[in-house]
Amino acid sequence: MEIKIPLRQHVGGINSPIVKCGDKVYRGQLIAVPNGLGANIHSSVSGEIIDIDEGEITIKALPNQPDDYIKIEDSDDYLELIKEAGIVGAGGAGFPTHIKLNTKLQSGFVVINAAECEPLLSHNMTRIMEDPDLILRGLKYVMEITGAKKGYIAIKPKNKKPLIELGKAIKSYKDIEAKYLPDMYPAGDERVIIRELFGIILKPGQLPLEANVVVSNIETIRNIVLAIEERRPVITKDLTVDGRVNSGEKVFLDVPIGTSIKSIIDDCGGYIEPHGEIVLGGPFMGKAGGEDSLVTKTTGGILVSLPFPNDSRKFGVLGCECGAQIDRLTAIVENMGGEVVSTANCKRMKDVNGRLRCEEPGVCPGQAEKVMGLKKNGAEAIIVGTCET
Ligand code: SF4
Repeated sequence: MEIKIPLRQHVGGINSPIVKCGDKVYRGQLIAVPNGLGANIHSSVSGEIIDIDEGEITIKALPNQPDDYIKIEDSDDYLELIKEAGIVGAGGAGFPTHIKLNTKLQSGFVVINAAECEPLLSHNMTRIMEDPDLILRGLKYVMEITGAKKGYIAIKPKNKKPLIELGKAIKSYKDIEAKYLPDMYPAGDERVIIRELFGIILKPGQLPLEANVVVSNIETIRNIVLAIEERRPVITKDLTVDGRVNSGEKVFLDVPIGTSIKSIIDDCGGYIEPHGEIVLGGPFMGKAGGEDSLVTKTTGGILVSLPFPNDSRKFGVLGCECGAQIDRLTAIVENMGGEVVSTANCKRMKDVNGRLRCEEPGVCPGQAEKVMGLKKNGAEAIIVGTCET
């Protein structure tokens, strides 16, 4: 089996390999280092390096993989361990965690984002049920690193079983509390979490730190615990597969980074035919992928859709910052055989330093005016990425 490990799996530049073709590598071995902003990349398997190009390191994996791994270097400094382990925001952001957590909160708070907000995804809830105490220990570590006075877990009440497990474990932690998020998309947006938990409205582009809060995803927190307690680098990813696969919804835990999407679909018993696009991520924010796409530190969902319907009408597209944006919607229209004649964004999207950001995620306006404008420009049908229309 071949594993192809991407050299960029994070915010920042592409990593530089520190191995060469023919090298034997062991699971957990450091194989690529960042140039400036970025995070270490380790081998997710034991085997031999058989190719290195500008984007990937290809490893021929041994047929029998070890359970153990090369541990990261010992340190008493938690941030140093997080850096060495190559931890990045596993919820999709990919921002290097050692940089994010290098802050001192003035009587502030740490929040675990357990919204698992995209429909269909459930691997975070699976992890909570598997070991809720590990998640709470992770929260304590981040509180210690940042000097936070209290920790919260933000979760939707519909997740009853994980909540019950958390409720039992949380009794041992005086300074940690579970808080409910509304059952809507995008409740997992960091600014929505700050608004719901603390009543603070952050402006577009403002970070949780400006409310004296650090927010971290469940899987990122787990990776922090593994780095601190077991000296384990990030070599695997949890994910959910759903859609037109024979297994139906299936959660995969600890998939080696660099595994091909095709091999995971095979592990689901293959496709239900006819099938269409492979979406990497959730239904709202996911991007089109392919069988050759690879599991990275930020892959969360693999969704196999129905084939696109044939529709050659003239379309208007209406983008949303927290859902599908104009480029994604345009690609969908083109795949259907349609023509995009007009585009618009939700009226709450404002330009902040060259990037369109939502003024108030989840407090979505009616879009009648935008729809009228698209129709006036010749649209016979409208395709929307907005959360509410
Ligand atoms: S207000 Fe608009 S941009 Fe923001 S989440 Fe709602 S639909 Fe999307």
